Amino acid sequence: MKSILMIGTGGTIASQLSGSALSPQLSPEELLALVPAISKLCRVECISLFNVDSTSMTPAHWVKITQCVRDNYDKYDGFVISHGTDTMAYTAAALSYMIRGSRKPVILTGAQKPIGFDSTDSKINLLDAFTCACSDNICGVNIVFNGRVILGTRARKTRSKSYAAFSSINYPYIATLQDGVLMQYIKPESSERPEFSTELDTNVGLIKLIPGIDFELLQFLTERKDAVIIEAFGVGGLPSYGDDKLLDIVINAISRGKIIIMTTQVQNEGSNVGVYQVGHKIRECPQVLEAFDMTTEAITGKLMWILGQTRAPAQIHRLFYTPVANDILNYRT
Ligand code: ASP
Repeated sequence: MKSILMIGTGGTIASQLSGSALSPQLSPEELLALVPAISKLCRVECISLFNVDSTSMTPAHWVKITQCVRDNYDKYDGFVISHGTDTMAYTAAALSYMIRGSRKPVILTGAQKPIGFDSTDSKINLLDAFTCACSDNICGVNIVFNGRVILGTRARKTRSKSYAAFSSINYPYIATLQDGVLMQYIKPESSERPEFSTELDTNVGLIKLIPGIDFELLQFLTERKDAVIIEAFGVGGLPSYGDDKLLDIVINAISRGKIIIMTTQVQNEGSNVGVYQVGHKIRECPQVLEAFDMTTEAITGKLMWILGQTRAPAQIHRLFYTPVANDILNYRT
């Protein structure tokens, strides 16, 4: 029988009503007691790292989860992390950089409805997560939710209420689960020993453009942050309202050593900023990075991880365009 470590972090799955609002209260042991089928699959030990609504999670929580997996890596065959759904895609992406190349499964799961409710997705999601954690073929960081296995770098919460809360963006599902049977389509690469990183530079900001955007907002962000992600429209590009003011802000920020990343606010298919004239000029700026088919969640985690290691522009460029856990596939530098 395989040995799995369950790491509890909170979320709806562990929530109960206090008054009229939900808050995480149950321990991982209490969750397991409600899904007895898991004890027939594997031996489980539990660590309750914290019990928070994932809305309040920060990169410091990602570091604690990574340290917990690292410190227990040799003792277990796989890991199940119970987690709130609201920021699970950010955690999954960040952990994909902080735990690289793991041959053992590191599975995040949670639920849209608490485990104690009459109608809940908690039990099936937990059981499916353990089925994946016991598999010899599922490797590295993945989200298991609603019968789908989604690569950690490709997940996004796309539904706020229904059980099909997560989608795989610009990448196929790794596997599906039906009645406990795992049907795997893709086997991610892994190495014998994973590499762990816990140094992050969290000074990363994001701006989503709206028509008529106040350019001062970008100016402010480039003053405050080491790296700024710009979610532009369509395939990308910077708007110009009769002048090059936005482009000037970007060029000025780069000259001060800031990192600017262009991406798109369109969920599927990614960016290609060179297509239109409004984006062409930005592509002529070699220091501006373009995210192509990466998710914003993955860009965020990757930047924090890269800037935690280096400030050298050439290194940042190289690391950003080096695929990690299939986070970027269709790109050109
Ligand atoms: N607010 C909750 C959380 O992210 C939502 C959930 O778990 O579904 O912790």
